[in-house]
Amino acid sequence: MKSTIYLKCPQCRENGLLIERQGKYFCANCMYDYTQLNDDLEKLDEVLLENLREGGFDFGFTTALYERVTLIPPQEATEYVKKLAEDNNIELIPDKGAILKGSLPVIIFFVVIIVVIIFASILVSIYG
Ligand SMILES: [Zn+2]
Repeated sequence: MKSTIYLKCPQCRENGLLIERQGKYFCANCMYDYTQLNDDLEKLDEVLLENLREGGFDFGFTTALYERVTLIPPQEATEYVKKLAEDNNIELIPDKGAILKGSLPVIIFFVVIIVVIIFASILVSIYG
């Protein structure tokens, strides 16, 4: 399975691609081994929190990292990261909201088109 997960690396401080080598996960920039965080869960939380706060990425990336490092099921990882964010007053952007925001200009565009068509047909029926 190919991963395209970007994370803020605790070692090089860059936003790096997470790459897999022989069951371990590394930062593509500096080869920082993320799997070692499984032995230091406090540090893992720090990395997760940093990514939630300022990674500027999808909360899914943070969940994916947690899932890969600790090897727990996706649903548990999601619950954990959500709880971690809540405990630290980090607001997660809900996926549905993002989709809705993205399609709003499209909806407005179609409403305007429809209004123009209705208006034009009224004008035609009056003056045509
Ligand atoms: Zn790095």
